[in-house]
Amino acid sequence: MTDSFEDNDAFAFAGLRLTVDLGALVQNWQDMARRSGRARTGAAVKADAYGLGIEDVGEALYLAGARDFFVATADEGATLRLYAPDARIFVLCGIWPGTERLFFENDLVPVIASEEQLTFWMSVVADHGDHPCALQVDTGFNRLGLRAEDAIALANDVSRPASFAPVLVISHLACADDPANVMNKQQLETFRTVSAAFEGIEASLANSAGIFLGSAYQFDLTRPGIALYGGQAVNGTANPMRPVATAEARIIQTRSVKAGETVSYGGALQLARDSRLAVVSAGYADGYMRSLSSGGVPLRQTGLPGGEGFIAGHKVPVAGRITMDLTIFDVTDVPEKLVRAGDYIELFGKNILIDDAARAAGTISYEMLTGLGLRHERRYISDETAE
Ligand SMILES: *Cc1c(COP(=O)(O)O)cnc(C)c1O
Repeated sequence: MTDSFEDNDAFAFAGLRLTVDLGALVQNWQDMARRSGRARTGAAVKADAYGLGIEDVGEALYLAGARDFFVATADEGATLRLYAPDARIFVLCGIWPGTERLFFENDLVPVIASEEQLTFWMSVVADHGDHPCALQVDTGFNRLGLRAEDAIALANDVSRPASFAPVLVISHLACADDPANVMNKQQLETFRTVSAAFEGIEASLANSAGIFLGSAYQFDLTRPGIALYGGQAVNGTANPMRPVATAEARIIQTRSVKAGETVSYGGALQLARDSRLAVVSAGYADGYMRSLSSGGVPLRQTGLPGGEGFIAGHKVPVAGRITMDLTIFDVTDVPEKLVRAGDYIELFGKNILIDDAARAAGTISYEMLTGLGLRHERRYISDETAE
């Protein structure tokens, strides 16, 4: 990378830059659509499209043909509406009294998540007239949704108002990332019974991992999230998705340090050899989690190695504790002329897979992506440059 320190470059101010490959995103969505067989393929774009920007991500997926989107909150839905004019936007956390206008004005579909929400929604449509809703049914996750028996009773309740018009019944899988888990089948069986009770109404069960469980799980509409963003959906298998997000941190300075000296807070790393270190402008405030430190944090007492960066064809380990704004990498094994102030070290992307970075941090790619701080510069590219 030689474009550092240029004038008029938004990236020139950024310690951390994030590149989002919208071409790879769209290819991942198309891949999910192929794997979804006869089901329609939606997209989960909650939490600002898993931290990658709901405006650009939402628009790219809309232009690729996605017409069913899942957000967490109504204000996320209102933002997405500008980029997905005639799509169906489902709000997974449902509706709170006082937010009805957001739903009506932006044509958002609340996913009714509890008996209280159901009662409230019945009163809303009784006043305002017909407006589509969806129904979440809990089949074992015990997070959101009506209990299955209550949902079936509702389906069979002939006295329910005609203005109550669910267009979709959904449930969420707890263990789909583990295909052998018996809970998948149990949830499937329960959901089959529930969706049969809502005859003529579309049904949706599968997130990314659920899509990989096969056609029985796909019903009418699938809801992939993490796979669109390049994350691994299913544990213990090769990840077929393309990397979408690349995070790179700029080197502020390199330094030579003698064997026996220590690095960073707590002197948590003592160098075994004369070393060269590169200090980059990103730390835990940017979402490069402190648990990725090479030592001196509880996770490292498990014996697992810390985080790794990538520069000039080499993987380079984090050295010592990660600090709020800064992280130190050991670049001793990289030729000196290839690591200079102003160069960038990849934190995750095509060379350090997001799932590997997340594992080193003791977490999952979802948290790594949504945990990116507010200080990074983001750019979008739309054609695949690599491969
Ligand atoms: C987040 C979410 C999804 C998408 O899940 P992924 O594992 O990211 O594919 C689907 N459905 C619901 C209800 C969700 O909350």
